[in-house]
Amino acid sequence: MTRARKPGARVRLTHLGAAGWEITDGQTTILVDPYLSRLRYRARFGLMDTPELSGDTRRVFGPDDDLVCDTAAVDARITRADFILHSHSHFNHTLDMPHIARKTGATVIGTESTTNLARAGGVPDAQILTVHGGEDYEFGALSIKVIPSLHSALNGKHYYDGRVVARDFRGPRRMDNDVEGGTLAYMLRLAGYRILWFGSMNYLEREIQGLRPDVALIAAARQRLEIHDYTGRLMRALDRPRLVFATHWDEQSLPYGAPQDARLREADVFVKEVKAASPRTRVVVARHFEPHFLEPKRG
Ligand SMILES: [Zn+2]
Repeated sequence: MTRARKPGARVRLTHLGAAGWEITDGQTTILVDPYLSRLRYRARFGLMDTPELSGDTRRVFGPDDDLVCDTAAVDARITRADFILHSHSHFNHTLDMPHIARKTGATVIGTESTTNLARAGGVPDAQILTVHGGEDYEFGALSIKVIPSLHSALNGKHYYDGRVVARDFRGPRRMDNDVEGGTLAYMLRLAGYRILWFGSMNYLEREIQGLRPDVALIAAARQRLEIHDYTGRLMRALDRPRLVFATHWDEQSLPYGAPQDARLREADVFVKEVKAASPRTRVVVARHFEPHFLEPKRG
């Protein structure tokens, strides 16, 4: 944690599907909402059933089933992490976190609900940092600004979840106890870059004004259309970042490699929205496990 800042390093960003990313400068590795299990499920409030896919023989998780991490899927891709950041506690953001934190020793940062899920999953207290939003924490090679935010307006804006995961929660995790626990966004300062990440399709405009990130990872699924001028207001509040990655655009209950054509068509609409508000911004719809590089910053 005391490693010196390294301005000259190249930063690699890799999309893990859903809202998840791996971000590293080669020294420090940060995971955000890493969710590789991609569980197949039957309906739950705010979610639609996993679409039919021929040849998909995976187990289907219903509302009464215990949700379990696919450790083989995680271990195939995740080998190290120093920090794991969470936007909120829903299973498609946090289910894999306890396994990853235990195996890597990474520090988990999230809301009270998220960190209680970490405890329930056997992550030692020494690896857990609970935040409210508003913190700006220094870690030597990295600093992390925690930003109060909002969850997507699911189910045609009828979504609301005021529940919190209790400190004494010990599992099991199920769809019917799947709690949001409030939503955060984060800005990382790494190798001279300011990287802003959202894990859900909404934000608090006043909390992001003036952040001026170099790179913004923006949640882009269709629920954004519930929000007035989602993309335009966001681009203006962020002072039109040079580089935007679409995230949380995929159908996250289909396995890696499954066709995502419908979702990609929807993501193209998001790209057009960004270009309309900020013609000089480069927009990338990041594909699963495709590495993207930020070249070393000079000066
Ligand atoms: Zn959610």
